[in-house]
Amino acid sequence: MRLGFHVSISGGFSLAVQRAHELGCSTMQIFSRNPRGWTVKPLDRADIDEFKRLREQYDIDPVFVHTNYLINLASTKPELYERSIEQFVIDLERTEHLGAEYLVTHLGSASGQEPLWMIDRVADALNMAMKLHAPRATILLENTAGEKGDVGYTFEQVNDVISRLNNTDKVGICYDTCHGFAAGYDIRTKAGVDAVAEKIGSTVGLGRLKGMHLNDCLRELGSHVDRHWHIGEGKIGEAGFTAILNHPAFKDVPKIMETPKETDEDDPRNMKKVRLLMK
Ligand code: MN
Ligand code: MN
Ligand code: ZN
Repeated sequence: MRLGFHVSISGGFSLAVQRAHELGCSTMQIFSRNPRGWTVKPLDRADIDEFKRLREQYDIDPVFVHTNYLINLASTKPELYERSIEQFVIDLERTEHLGAEYLVTHLGSASGQEPLWMIDRVADALNMAMKLHAPRATILLENTAGEKGDVGYTFEQVNDVISRLNNTDKVGICYDTCHGFAAGYDIRTKAGVDAVAEKIGSTVGLGRLKGMHLNDCLRELGSHVDRHWHIGEGKIGEAGFTAILNHPAFKDVPKIMETPKETDEDDPRNMKKVRLLMK
C-alpha cells in the first residue's frame, strides 16, 4: 500500500521529496506554490530535475499536487470565478511540469446557492479549464465536509459534476475520510466502510478512485466541520481506520495523510499507527 504525507515545498520541490522519503513515504502530496496567495514564482528547472530524479530513486509514486486554497470553481463572483479558472490551469500546468500524476481540487463553495446551481457552475469551470489546457495529469475531485456553502459533500454531487464534463478521461476522485465523516459518512465500523465503498461504486465508480486523504476527524459525525486529526485519535478512531485500511476497495488506493504537524513527532507517529492497523 502506497502511503505518504502532504509535505512542505519550502526550500524547493527536491527538498519536499527528501522530507517525504525521510518520513518513510511511498507517495506524497505537495502544493505547486504558496497555497494562500495568487502570486506564482517561475519553476526552477534544476530543482524540478532533481525532484524527478529523487522521487524515482526513492520510489515515490504517485505524486499528488493540491490546488491553491483561494481557487473557488463555484464562486458567484464573476471576477473570482474567472481568476479561479485561470489559476486552476496554472496549477494544472505546474503539476505537469513537475511530472506529477494528479491534481487534487475541492469543488468550491457558493453560500446561498442550491447544490444544483453549484454543480453546473463547477462543471462549467472545469470544462473551461480543460478547454484552455487539455490535461495530461489527472484531475481528482475531492469530497468536502460541507462547510459553509461547500458543494461536493456527497458522492452523488461529485458524480453530478463528473457527468457534466465534456471529457472525463483525465478525471477521477480523491476520497477524504475526514471530510466524508464530517459530511455524515460513518466509517467507524466495517459495515460503515462497506457502505461507503458501495456508495462510491454506485455513484462515481471505484475505477475513478485514484487517491485518498487519510485523516481522522476532530469533530462529530455529520458536524460539517473540517478539522483533521491524528489517525485513530479522533472521532473515526482505530476501529474505523482498521476497516478502511484493510477494505479490498481501498487497499490499493494511494493514501495521503493531511494530519496536523504540531511537533516533529506527529508525522512519524501517524505513519506508525497506520502501519500498525494494516493487517
Ligand atoms: Mn483538500
Ligand atoms: Mn483532503
Ligand atoms: Zn480538509
